[in-house]
Amino acid sequence: MDRIYMDNAATTRVKPEVRDAMLPFYDEVFGNPSTIYYYGREAHKALDHARQQVAAAIGADKDEIYFTSCGTESDNWAIKGAAFAHQKKGNHIITSAIEHHAVLHTCAWLEKHGFEVTYLPVDEYGRVNPADVEKAITDKTILITIMFANNEIGTIQPIAEIAKIAKAHNVLFHTDAVQAVGAVPINVHELGVDMLSLSGHKFYAPKGVGALYIRRGVRIDINQQGGAQERGKRGGTENMAQIVGLGKAIEMATADVEGHAKKLAHMRDRLIDGILAEIPDVKLNGHRTERLPNNVNVSIRYIEGEALLLRLDLAGIAASSGSACTSGSLDPSHVLLAIGLPHEVAHGSLRLSLGDFNTEHDVDVVLEKLPEIVKTLRDMSPLYADRNQ
Ligand SMILES: *Cc1c(COP(=O)(O)O)cnc(C)c1O
Repeated sequence: MDRIYMDNAATTRVKPEVRDAMLPFYDEVFGNPSTIYYYGREAHKALDHARQQVAAAIGADKDEIYFTSCGTESDNWAIKGAAFAHQKKGNHIITSAIEHHAVLHTCAWLEKHGFEVTYLPVDEYGRVNPADVEKAITDKTILITIMFANNEIGTIQPIAEIAKIAKAHNVLFHTDAVQAVGAVPINVHELGVDMLSLSGHKFYAPKGVGALYIRRGVRIDINQQGGAQERGKRGGTENMAQIVGLGKAIEMATADVEGHAKKLAHMRDRLIDGILAEIPDVKLNGHRTERLPNNVNVSIRYIEGEALLLRLDLAGIAASSGSACTSGSLDPSHVLLAIGLPHEVAHGSLRLSLGDFNTEHDVDVVLEKLPEIVKTLRDMSPLYADRNQ
């Protein structure tokens, strides 16, 4: 069966160029980059190059990039590291209700350890209002953390505006840009952010490698005690092959980010327009234009998202009913509830997230099969039969 993968917000396939760049680091260039002889020097050169590739991709300097094991670790480090480093100044953190669990659960943990967290609401499109950020700031506020783009509904936040407010109040600003890197142009100086999280497996590097940008001069606690790796802030012998893969992948993903985005947005808009035209009682979730170029999220009334996913899988289509971390749980997504969807509507939602391996033909196939599957499910649904009562 021909299979179509449209869950690139959950993870992406490693590109062959990325894999090829990684392979020598398992056996040929296997040295520990902290050693001074040939094997170590070669590894160190590659580490340095990868750091430069990440820095260049986001407009940072090399010594502002710290490698981590994933986006979740980057978020944990940024938030806990800033909280504990600045707790003498205050104990208040501002975030939003629609963050990834890597941020939300970290904030919840900090609440058990003496910190106070404000969870800002979002509008019906999932946007944070910068005026709400400003109103929430107190003389105890030490950190604002707002995601760049949402992993479920694709909404992009006014990051530069929020960063400006944070700066005017002398508060640190972190953004989880895991979904945004490679999808939209990012320059940390133009944005004015102090810290930014990214993760390799969302842009065609392997799972298990990420990075945190920390602007020079920003003080946060060290992440992991140990050796002098990552300028003494994260001990542990570097995961060389993964780091090299991350460097190669981010260079490729940001080489022509606008051309890239245009191609994805064309497929995205065909999907959105096609679904809205072909299936009755469907609502687009997220913002129509301030939106990731690869994200489609719709609520399809009178069906269950999980049932839809199973049917799509039988038809060879891999998609998501929300975020990968929450499937398996019966609670509707916190993001869909935060944009005001009633539980039963949130339950019937579908996320299709496009990537570089998708083709216009994939879009055609989904637009052909999805309406049929929805019709079959609705014909079986008592909710649908009762809908006009
Ligand atoms: C995937 C994701 C993460 C977590 O990254 P991992 O590398 O999987 O730990 C964090 N935030 C957002 C917005 C994500 O999409």
